[in-house]
Amino acid sequence: MTLFDLSDRIAIVTGGNGGIGLGMAEGLASAGAIVVLAGRNAEKGEAAVRRIAQAGGEAEFSEVDVTSETSCRALIDTAAGRHGRLDILVNNAGINIRKSPDILSAAEWHTVIDTNLTSAFICTHAAYPHMKRTGRGKIINIGSMMSIFGAGFAPAYAASKGGIVQFTRACATAWAKQNIQVNAVLPGWIDTDLTRGARREVVGLHESVLARTPAGRWGDPKDFAGIAVFLASGASDFVTGAAIPVDGGYSVQG
Ligand code: NDP
Repeated sequence: MTLFDLSDRIAIVTGGNGGIGLGMAEGLASAGAIVVLAGRNAEKGEAAVRRIAQAGGEAEFSEVDVTSETSCRALIDTAAGRHGRLDILVNNAGINIRKSPDILSAAEWHTVIDTNLTSAFICTHAAYPHMKRTGRGKIINIGSMMSIFGAGFAPAYAASKGGIVQFTRACATAWAKQNIQVNAVLPGWIDTDLTRGARREVVGLHESVLARTPAGRWGDPKDFAGIAVFLASGASDFVTGAAIPVDGGYSVQG
């Protein structure tokens, strides 16, 4: 369908080698985009590339450490240079260090903020000239339920994800007239490597998520294919600065 067609679009997904990032990358590839999966773990990256190829899509892996400005800029400029353009950027790479604020160290704070928030700024900053040149662009930032709610075990993570939403709004406002749409996706509780750790460390988390989520289940990375295609395609050309929950109803449950 033309409205959601991404043929020949070039997309970069940070953390696209697994979890939610791969779910989004698979959606983008199925709609025709050529997707650059960026992450640290090349083995995971090559497996993800094969998975997309087996489904008939086109993807490649590019190694990046998003905590390094040099590495982020090299990722964006190399991919845009190789393909001659950059249409879609998904700022998805993220980590959590689960500690209460009184025992979180400054170094741990910086690690989480650098990985989840500063990386989105650097990658977006590097992507902007390429999008401006072609007269259009789609940037998708990944927030969290902690963009909305507090959590005693995730002070730096919550700060980074609150920051992602405000950064999204700033860029959306700045670049709307240049036809660059910038939106955030706020996942609910999704079954990935990240939350497998949380389920081990936070007693009762698994059950409380099931109880609170109206859909009655944890999310799956596949649940992010549709929102990725929507926000990357012409279907969302008048949608910008939004923060869209994909959470099975978690955030609207009273
Ligand atoms: P995963 O742990 O499966 O994926 C995280 C991804 O980030 C990995 O692909 C990892 O790549 C990449 N990454 C982490 N640090 C770096 C780094 N320094 N440089 C490059 N890549 C890095 O978790 P999710 O899929 O769950 O998380 C994806 C995003 O979704 C995150 O931003 C997370 O905060 C967010 N989110 C997740 C929720 C959930 O319930 N799962 C809920 C709300 C938000 P590599 O393995 O190569 O290091």
